[in-house]
Amino acid sequence: MEFPRHLLELETLTRAQIEALLGLAGTFKRERARARSGEAGPDRRGLLRGRTIVTLFFENSTRTRSSFEVAARALGADVLSFQKEASSVAKGESLEDTVRNLDAIGADALVLRHPAAGAPRLVARAVKASVVNAGDGAHEHPTQGLLDALSLRERWGTLEGKTVAIVGDIAHSRVARSNIHCLTKLGARVRVGGPSTLIPLGIEKLGCTVAKTLREALTSADAVMALRIQNERIADARLPGARDYARTWGLNARTLEMLPQGALVLHPGPVNRGVELSSDVLDGPRSLVMDQVDSGVAVRMATLALCLRAEVAA
Ligand code: ASP
Repeated sequence: MEFPRHLLELETLTRAQIEALLGLAGTFKRERARARSGEAGPDRRGLLRGRTIVTLFFENSTRTRSSFEVAARALGADVLSFQKEASSVAKGESLEDTVRNLDAIGADALVLRHPAAGAPRLVARAVKASVVNAGDGAHEHPTQGLLDALSLRERWGTLEGKTVAIVGDIAHSRVARSNIHCLTKLGARVRVGGPSTLIPLGIEKLGCTVAKTLREALTSADAVMALRIQNERIADARLPGARDYARTWGLNARTLEMLPQGALVLHPGPVNRGVELSSDVLDGPRSLVMDQVDSGVAVRMATLALCLRAEVAA
């Protein structure tokens, strides 16, 4: 099984490639947990020693950027954090020229977040370095899809035959797209639901079904993933107000009753408490949210190791 040199999207990865990545990420996650509890384990800092990873974020990020940087350092790489405001982008340099220069400086991998869908593909054509998509517009957020799958797989053993509901702003969500591709490739059924103006026509072609109400989305689901309304990508008046949204699509103690006992709750963050999730749901026993963040570091370690062809003895 060959892993691609760039991770641009999950749509074109095979199930075998996804499973190879999740297998390695699972190993890294267990090793990190053991190290936190003081147990000795393999030192992974040799895997990318001497390699340089540049993170370039043209959109805000809390989890993804820090998680990639922690992951790169855990593998021994040097990390350079490109600051848009302090760079020559602010003087008018184009994205392609910027990345060609970072390439010439000797970057081995560029981790890119950009508001334009397709920007990572454009960059991959322009540079010799590996390119990892850390979220491009409303297109994909591949490492998010992978980390969600890792957290779910660890709970369930397999995703085969499970039903995952994704609820919220599906139209503008790269997380929804990456999750639909990843979860269906791994054998799960995906149902999406949300305000009708935020469900794109023809989304079923990606392999999911559409639920018209929250009850329909949650009934017999094994997990629900709540998504934030992507205000920054919505220019028109299709937006329900936060109060309206919370009443019809928000997850709280009352609406959670529609889910079977034991079903799990996920959210990629950032969460608007009281809108997509009430605090008791977010901090409650069914929430996988902090575990998703933990999976994120391991998935990004595995991504960098595989894209950069590190010699990993699992
Ligand atoms: N953090 C995720 C993203 O960058 C989800 C979100 O922002 O709502 O797409």
